[in-house]
Amino acid sequence: MIESTPRLASTDEVVAELRRRNSFVMVSHVKPDGDTLGAGLALGLALKRLGKRVSYFQQDSVPRNLRFLPDTELVSCELPPDLPDDTLYVFCDMSDYKRAGELLPPVDRENMLDIDHHLGNSLFGKLNFVLENECSTGSVVMHLLRGLEVPVDGRIATCILATVMTDTGGFMHSNTTPGALELAAELMRLGADKEKITEEIFLRKRVAATKLLGRIIEAMRFEHSGRYSYSYVDDAMLAETGADGEDTEDIVNTLLGQDGVDVAALFKAIDGEIRVSLRSGGRINVQAAAQRLGGGGHFRASGLTCYGTLPEAFAAVETALVAEGL
Ligand code: 5GP
Ligand code: MN
Repeated sequence: MIESTPRLASTDEVVAELRRRNSFVMVSHVKPDGDTLGAGLALGLALKRLGKRVSYFQQDSVPRNLRFLPDTELVSCELPPDLPDDTLYVFCDMSDYKRAGELLPPVDRENMLDIDHHLGNSLFGKLNFVLENECSTGSVVMHLLRGLEVPVDGRIATCILATVMTDTGGFMHSNTTPGALELAAELMRLGADKEKITEEIFLRKRVAATKLLGRIIEAMRFEHSGRYSYSYVDDAMLAETGADGEDTEDIVNTLLGQDGVDVAALFKAIDGEIRVSLRSGGRINVQAAAQRLGGGGHFRASGLTCYGTLPEAFAAVETALVAEGL
């Protein structure tokens, strides 16, 4: 059989597939954020309103700041034992299914739906619904909700607004288009709880997290005439402050925010691996830099895993950034 070239699916094709199937697993990526989770929860709520069976798979636990979202208590790192063979696995917000983690049992391509907004999505699904110009995967899901003609209630609207606010950094990043703001306004009119999202995802911090921020800022270094800032966090810093990996999430943005900085990196040497978060002010494509080292993401926000020691990771990432114009 000749393998057909993967291509993008239309809204109508995806809506027809969603109507045809009866059982779904919403899959979010490792180290979940408000977009991967909110998108899956929103579509799951809509599918349940259509009488479908919906389960949720996520390798890592739900981050503390996202537990207010509806149905997060249903999210599990195990699949139910009695899933029908034609269950559709809906991968939200990942450029490749491998980002779901190694705990997810193998899934036939025939049963994979890929919903995403990343540059360079590998089009791994039977159907690939990837809209690169959307600010979040949740706003991609919104096209499907309209197509499904499911009424968007306050709970669904809150999930989608959480995706928009997460991926626009609270309406601050460059993906905050007029369309993103119009969608946010529409979601608020539909009952999305913007105050709760602001409080839970953006404002409330654990004291341990703030102490960790202090340690990371103390360790911050500047290179390339101050255009590149980077820092790191390791297991010892977590132990000393009482923070955990979740508390490291948005610290890289503080590194990027320093005067004169074009690109920032935070190296997280935690539990035997080095995860790197890259952020760009817009001059350097950090998606391309991450891809050189096996990672990916967006032009201004990307991530990757490094192998070896921290100094080796610093060197590898700097080389990749230089290759992209640092
Ligand atoms: P973060 O720094 O917040 O972990 O990730 C920033 C962006 O890069 C997100 O859009 C995320 O999906 C993407 N990203 C992070 N790590 C990886 C990775 O290892 N592989 C790929 N393909 N994308 C990643
Ligand atoms: Mn996203």
